Amino acid sequence: MRSIKKPIVIVGAGFGGMTVASNLKRLNPALPILVVDSEAQFIFKPLMYEVLSEELPIWEAAPEYSNIFSNLGITFLKNCLTKIRFDENILEFSDDLKLGYEYLVLCTGSLSNTFSVKGVYENCYFFNNLNDLNNLRSVLQKIQNNNIKKKLFIIGAGPSGVEIACKVNDIYKNNFDISIVERSNEILSKNKIFNREEAEKALLSRKINLFLNSTVKEISDQKISILNNSEIRDFDQDIIIWTAGVKPNLPFIEGNVSQSNGRILVNEKFQIDNFTNSFAIGDIAIIKGMEDLPLTAQVAIQEGNHLAKNIELLSQEKDLLPFEFQDNGEMISLGIGEASISALGVTLSGKLAFEARRLIYASKMPVISKSLKSTASWVFQKKSILNKFINKTP
Ligand SMILES: Cc1cc2nc3c(=O)[nH]c(=O)nc-3n(C[C@H](O)[C@H](O)[C@H](O)COP(=O)(O)OP(=O)(O)OC[C@H]3O[C@@H](n4cnc5c(N)ncnc54)[C@H](O)[C@@H]3O)c2cc1C
Repeated sequence: MRSIKKPIVIVGAGFGGMTVASNLKRLNPALPILVVDSEAQFIFKPLMYEVLSEELPIWEAAPEYSNIFSNLGITFLKNCLTKIRFDENILEFSDDLKLGYEYLVLCTGSLSNTFSVKGVYENCYFFNNLNDLNNLRSVLQKIQNNNIKKKLFIIGAGPSGVEIACKVNDIYKNNFDISIVERSNEILSKNKIFNREEAEKALLSRKINLFLNSTVKEISDQKISILNNSEIRDFDQDIIIWTAGVKPNLPFIEGNVSQSNGRILVNEKFQIDNFTNSFAIGDIAIIKGMEDLPLTAQVAIQEGNHLAKNIELLSQEKDLLPFEFQDNGEMISLGIGEASISALGVTLSGKLAFEARRLIYASKMPVISKSLKSTASWVFQKKSILNKFINKTP
């Protein structure tokens, strides 16, 4: 066994970082692990819609890191990484702290991407982190108290856009006239056909307007300009939620690190070129030869599991193993109490899918909360079909 003098530092405690840290601790409790995150709370992003609709209290989807890591026996530091000096194995933080590392795991996730469209940053709400969720929740509550129906535009018909549209419709009933604007010719273009069809039905039944083949050109505080069929039209707007895409969160990378589409290029063992004691996983990484992997929690968790095994092999001076992704399917929420699942050859929609989705996420929560646990056990007793999902899940 190789002796490790400096810590294994994991920066970013989202799905990727949390998985590496907890698995590494389990595989080898003697390894010195330090986890750093700029936030005080983990956010279980797939459950942000349920927090928005108040189906789930915020504290259940966003547990404190200090609790999670003290339960795991892992040291946690709240700090923001500002620079990496790869040649010297040194990290710099926003409070001027400098930290050396033996191995580095980078998993700082994504930021919303405005694609430089004029007015987006100033006039839109986003839905990518806890702050975004709190801001959106309070503005929706504030403006719905006025009796006039408000014009809500959601930009992007990927999972986030569709899921928010259905939830907002169900929570606020007749308070919003909701439109989704999508550049391509269909919703959920990268998702499973079953989920796309279920989502189409969900949008139709809620009378949510769809602008397909439509591109947002500019947004001001009261208008949105949309290009469709070579024609630009202006519409009045009261609130706009931007879910049109994300970009990697890498403000601290300087110098000679290979990148592809702005993401860190790694080999199939997650090593960064020229710096083989440094690894990147999750939304910020792109694996050579596996460029099509989606930016999902499922991918980040599988990568985190695999990387933990590889770091343990390294500590024993053994060869690292290449990563292989297994597609376990996908789930989307479609309004209050409804969802759609397409996984492992099984499809499920409606209320049963909603309960199954909660059960599956309960099994993935870092600290499984009491109410999620009780939902899980209730569903588990009543619906034996869920056994199919529980071990191999999205
Ligand atoms: C609303 C929403 C719903 C989603 N639903 C699903 C779903 O149903 N299924 C699915 O598979 N995927 C879903 N995703 C995508 C999924 O959440 C991401 O792909 C996944 O979180 C990526 O994991 P990660 O570890 O790369 O990054 P993250 O989980 O985003 O974690 C990044 C962490 O890095 C920290 N960090 C960032 N910068 C710094 C810094 N400079 N210093 C220190 N710490 C830093 C952040 O605070 C954060 O905790 C959803 C995403 C969103 C936004």
